[in-house]
Amino acid sequence: MSQVFDVLVIGAGPGGYIAAIRAAQLGFKVACAESNPHADPKGEPRLGGTCLNVGCIPSKALLASSEEFEKIGHHVADHGIQVGSVSIDIKKMLARKDEIVNKMTGGISFLFRKNKVTSIKGHASFVGKTADGYQIQITGKDAGTITAKNVIIATGSKARHLPNIPVDNVLVCDNEGALKFDSLPKRLGVIGAGVIGLELGSVWRRVGSQVTVLEALPSFLGACDEGIAKEAKKIFTKQGLDIHMGVKIDGVKADKKGVVVSYQDSTGKPQKLECDRLIVSVGRVPNTEGLNLEAISVKTDERGFIPSIRCLWHSSISIMFELFHCIYYVSSAMPRSYNRIVTFA
Ligand SMILES: Cc1cc2nc3c(=O)[nH]c(=O)nc-3n(C[C@H](O)[C@H](O)[C@H](O)COP(=O)(O)OP(=O)(O)OC[C@H]3O[C@@H](n4cnc5c(N)ncnc54)[C@H](O)[C@@H]3O)c2cc1C
Repeated sequence: MSQVFDVLVIGAGPGGYIAAIRAAQLGFKVACAESNPHADPKGEPRLGGTCLNVGCIPSKALLASSEEFEKIGHHVADHGIQVGSVSIDIKKMLARKDEIVNKMTGGISFLFRKNKVTSIKGHASFVGKTADGYQIQITGKDAGTITAKNVIIATGSKARHLPNIPVDNVLVCDNEGALKFDSLPKRLGVIGAGVIGLELGSVWRRVGSQVTVLEALPSFLGACDEGIAKEAKKIFTKQGLDIHMGVKIDGVKADKKGVVVSYQDSTGKPQKLECDRLIVSVGRVPNTEGLNLEAISVKTDERGFIPSIRCLWHSSISIMFELFHCIYYVSSAMPRSYNRIVTFA
């Protein structure tokens, strides 16, 4: 396959799919390449990026289920409502989440068709640039080469892993594994008290796990307004999360019996946390390493981010915007994408 487009968007997350649709609505001939390793029911890479597949949407679906469970189990009695013993079917809760994900990711395919965005299933990497535009190699289902006058890099991010904590997404999980536990872990450890760790810890706490959160920083939700962070800590603690701040993780061992986290508490005393599963949620890293940006003379910084100002002012790159996590991490999916598309228009 060799095709020519006005705009190629790399990545079909909330940054990329909205950019692609908007560019098509503005009259450009647009393609959007997506290499998500998670397949849709047809066996093709799912659209929607982190947000729809393994982020905002599935986590909110599970939060909603866990909230209903907690409400019925613990709070309706105050209203005089009597219920018998309440139990939760974890497999069904996950099936509901998967159905929501399927429906929403399928919705993007529909929007692409409706707006005449060509959906390219495969991994995109730069080959170079000529007078005709950027040359991009696609590997995967729709393998071939693409020439695009403009490229929008919206490749997002993936979970940051630590060298001494191997993630298998069964016992030791990042956000992907933590959204698909097939049974309720009696004891759940969470490394990282950021928004994602707290959210996922909260889901499993509400449905019955005993949850311990270990955070390296001394202050809770340090990037938030102080008053909000203080209230949030009270709420999470009341909910039953056992939160330890200022810890230093020494190592993680996982075997058939479970997971043991060795750490030093805030006073430097060695401690051990034994749990059935562990969520490691220590930030996100940009998905830029497979793009072969060197071929178009774009350099990333030492953390893999594309320095935005440099790129936007780069004389050899006409209209090339990088969205979201390639530049810097933002935890909000939608508003930024709209801002960027306004720039594009
Ligand atoms: C558990 C969790 C909960 C979250 N909750 C919220 C929330 O409630 N609200 C909120 O606003 N945000 C939330 N976020 C953050 C949100 O998911 C991100 O801000 C958003 O997904 C970023 O969108 P994006 O388009 O930049 O990148 P992504 O959604 O990561 O999409 C990038 C896409 O690019 C593809 N890609 C990468 N490289 C290539 C390549 N070379 N070729 C082809 N395709 C490629 C990837 O497969 C991916 O599908 C949450 C994140 C997580 C992990």
